[in-house]
Amino acid sequence: MSAQDVAGAVTSRSLPGAPHLAWRDEELVLEGHALAELARRFGTPLYVYSRAAMRTALAAYARALAGRRHLVCYAMKANSNLAVLQTFAAAGCGFDIVSAGELARVLAAGGRASRTVFSGVGKRRGEMATALEAGVRCFNVESVGELQVLDEVARAHGVRAPVSLRVNPDVDAGTHPYISTGLKSNKFGVAHAEALATYRRAAELPGLRVEGIDSHIGSQITQVEPYLDALDRLLDLVEAVEAEGIPLHHVDVGGGLGITYTDEAPPAADVLVSRLLARMDARGHGHREVLLEPGRSLVGNAGVLVTEVLYLKPGEVTNFCIVDAAMNDLTRPALYDAYMAIEPCVVRRHLPPRRWDVVGPVCESGDWLGRQRDLAVHVGDHLAVLSAGAYGMAMASNYNTRPRAAEVMVDGDAVHLVRERERVAELFAGERLIET
Ligand SMILES: *Cc1c(COP(=O)(O)O)cnc(C)c1O
Repeated sequence: MSAQDVAGAVTSRSLPGAPHLAWRDEELVLEGHALAELARRFGTPLYVYSRAAMRTALAAYARALAGRRHLVCYAMKANSNLAVLQTFAAAGCGFDIVSAGELARVLAAGGRASRTVFSGVGKRRGEMATALEAGVRCFNVESVGELQVLDEVARAHGVRAPVSLRVNPDVDAGTHPYISTGLKSNKFGVAHAEALATYRRAAELPGLRVEGIDSHIGSQITQVEPYLDALDRLLDLVEAVEAEGIPLHHVDVGGGLGITYTDEAPPAADVLVSRLLARMDARGHGHREVLLEPGRSLVGNAGVLVTEVLYLKPGEVTNFCIVDAAMNDLTRPALYDAYMAIEPCVVRRHLPPRRWDVVGPVCESGDWLGRQRDLAVHVGDHLAVLSAGAYGMAMASNYNTRPRAAEVMVDGDAVHLVRERERVAELFAGERLIET
């Protein structure tokens, strides 16, 4: 391969996250902003998000839902930066939260409690009280025990808590291996077989007001069929519950739609939603309000993690490309053995690529971002880990006393620093020496 061919091969590789992520000559740009330049300006490791990419992802859901009563609740655990929440709130989006801390973020970002649903298997009394006082749209309840505690907390507040039961549809894992939360063996939700009895119980409790039904069958799902199976199971229950005189106003089909990290081909959000709505219509449920809880699919391909090459360490067996981002900044590769594409921020035209394991400075052999990647890099170059907008910064830690990365949001011509890089002193500000 000539150097020209090498560069051509790099710049013609398809980029997950396109069209907002693109090659401009030899530079990798997000919404037109060169990532290498942002790295020089703000330092590394650096998360960079495209506001347009987030809006585009949300618009796909909205398009399919137009003309329906609906609420898209962004599952904010995927990326809870305030500017991300602000972007979605301004676009009319609601939120799916799993803690009182997340509710505080929603309110701080200008989101509304009345468009927020509260999920999670382990809600504490104090969190329930906070959510009731704020006036959340619905509690997605996951067990009989939680139902009873919520009833008590609501009565103590002199209100009725709006509830939906998270039903575990037990969708067959054999046919749909990617489903990880909708099986009998998972900790999530009320078993399908017990759901009717649990609705009866909920309807009797004076502190509760039954509003709907929900499910969430897993994450990074790349097929429509598991959703249709789960929806059918939910609608069967809706019919059984309503036959007993307990009305259900909304059906919440959860989140979980996958994105493209490498060669996955998930359905587009509007295709998925259209199929779900068609199934609801066909079964006579077209009048019902539809709720969705997408996380990853709204933000995943909208963000990248930019890192600088610190050292190149060729070896007998493996060549190591040591970068300044690590498993504490981006946990997915180490935690799930996840593949995330890695591209140079500037193409080296005259350097033939070599095969590298891209690893961070953390003292763990599991600290890697990508293995066996063909890259043409020099020390000091910048690399971008793609599709890092979801479960990236949100799962970052301070392991090895490493300050968490800065976050930047590009928005047309504008560049906004939306989270400052943490300072070392902040990391132990709450710790105390023992007086001797
Ligand atoms: C995590 C989660 C979601 C979002 O999942 P994604 O795979 O990010 O879309 C939605 N609902 C619930 C209850 C969740 O726990």
